[in-house]
Amino acid sequence: MTADPFVVIGGDAAGLSAASKCKREAPDRDVVVFEKGRWVSYAHCGTPYFVKGEVEQLTDLLSLSPTEVDDRGIDLRREHEVVDIDTDGRTVSVRAPDGDRVEQPYGDLLVATGAHALTAPVGGSDLPGAFSLHGLDDAAAIRAALEPPGEATPESLGGGDYLDPAVIDRYAAWEPPETVAIVGGGSVGVEMSEAFTARGLDIHLFQRSGHVLDPFGEAVAERVETELRERGVALHMETEVERLAGDDRVERLECAGGTALDVDLALVGVGVRPNVGLVADTPVELGESGAVAVDDCGRTAVDGVYAAGDCAEARHTVTGEFDWVPLGLTANRAGRAVGQTVAGDPKPTGDIAGTAVVKAFDQECGRVGIVDHERARQAGFDPVTETITTASRSGYYPGAAEIVVSLTADRESGRLLGGTIVGTDRAAVRIDTVATALEGDMTVDEVENLDLAYAPPFSPVWDPVLTAAKVLNGSLEETAGN
Ligand SMILES: Cc1cc2nc3c(=O)[nH]c(=O)nc-3n(C[C@H](O)[C@H](O)[C@H](O)COP(=O)(O)OP(=O)(O)OC[C@H]3O[C@@H](n4cnc5c(N)ncnc54)[C@H](O)[C@@H]3O)c2cc1C
Repeated sequence: MTADPFVVIGGDAAGLSAASKCKREAPDRDVVVFEKGRWVSYAHCGTPYFVKGEVEQLTDLLSLSPTEVDDRGIDLRREHEVVDIDTDGRTVSVRAPDGDRVEQPYGDLLVATGAHALTAPVGGSDLPGAFSLHGLDDAAAIRAALEPPGEATPESLGGGDYLDPAVIDRYAAWEPPETVAIVGGGSVGVEMSEAFTARGLDIHLFQRSGHVLDPFGEAVAERVETELRERGVALHMETEVERLAGDDRVERLECAGGTALDVDLALVGVGVRPNVGLVADTPVELGESGAVAVDDCGRTAVDGVYAAGDCAEARHTVTGEFDWVPLGLTANRAGRAVGQTVAGDPKPTGDIAGTAVVKAFDQECGRVGIVDHERARQAGFDPVTETITTASRSGYYPGAAEIVVSLTADRESGRLLGGTIVGTDRAAVRIDTVATALEGDMTVDEVENLDLAYAPPFSPVWDPVLTAAKVLNGSLEETAGN
């Protein structure tokens, strides 16, 4: 091995994108990836659909097998946890599977350690039967608990020797649950409502604030709440869960204010936090969000140390400030850019706009940019929002469905700040038009004049985003005229 290997901590989206790109651009450079778990190159995003049963095997959620990673010339070390970073000596200290410590020098280092599910606010989250969903092991354990007793094995789940058989055996022995509590109405809580419904469970979703899917705004939340209720999910809004309780497994949920519910299983999805513990004792700095502070190429405050993905910040398209929005494309794209940069050809990781989509049964939801007025004001804007309801296709064409679009702009400049969409019939992906407009710093007037495609099976003459822009532009002009 050369004296200046590119060492990557974390073997998923950001880490392996960086390793692959660096190896492709600089084939002679040694690239070492340390992954503390057994899985690498896996799709968190598919885990709700694995629990639902739509995705059959865990292996279906892998992009690259360890062998394919090896074939790329990457030195992949699974079950190797990096436990210390010495930025002066340019070395990382690694715990090998046998417990031994190994010192690994680096020329460049990428911290791609991702995020972890937050459980601390909910007491008893460590009880058996209380799950979070952050990784394939969690997904496998939940599915084992849902299947008829004795049916799930590491092999039947597609996990083979990647899964801990003791965990799977324990949950596979359980009678399937009847009542399940979901704590948290974010994307994971909403997606898991669908997964548990498909399994015939009695579902209670608890949300501390007044709406589910907070970052998607009210217009989306109201639709999704209606959909959830119609599908039989009991919503407990403005209800804070204090703790999960039980003797040797979760049996009860207790809320502030005295509400309690007997449950057989609980899913805690109250948010994620960046995994930054490794850099705590190094000169690597954190940003205001608590994630690693980086520049536009993913460089940290320390020479030769980069960060990318869920553990790192990125520059926000609308505010121009660094922000933390942990999402899949952000991680893959930032990792790939860092790989190119360390290979000698610096590349920006790209701005983020918080573009996100989520499915709530038949409702498809999208959001991008800044849609919350308080947040917009903090960033120095004077926000105006208009919401329209229109059809997804020409009204006469079969399959036309209602679609709700909200756009937010700055009153003074007319600049588009963000938007949300909810509906059926491929509604969510229309958010990409709004994301593109944000990236181009477009005003609402410019968005209104975009030449978007029309044919009856796909869209009305005025695409729903154009209609929303037209209405918002009218509002802005009215205000300007006053
Ligand atoms: C249930 C769920 C659904 C999601 N759905 C979507 C979606 O629909 N769309 C979307 O855009 N995003 C979604 N996301 C987010 C998306 O999965 C993440 O943004 C993405 O996986 C981040 O990639 P990453 O490489 O930064 O981190 P991760 O994928 O978390 O990978 C980090 C890796 O680092 C390893 N690691 C950590 N510490 C160490 C250490 N000290 N030593 C060695 N290895 C270490 C971890 O074991 C892990 O494998 C979802 C996430 C979850 C949990």
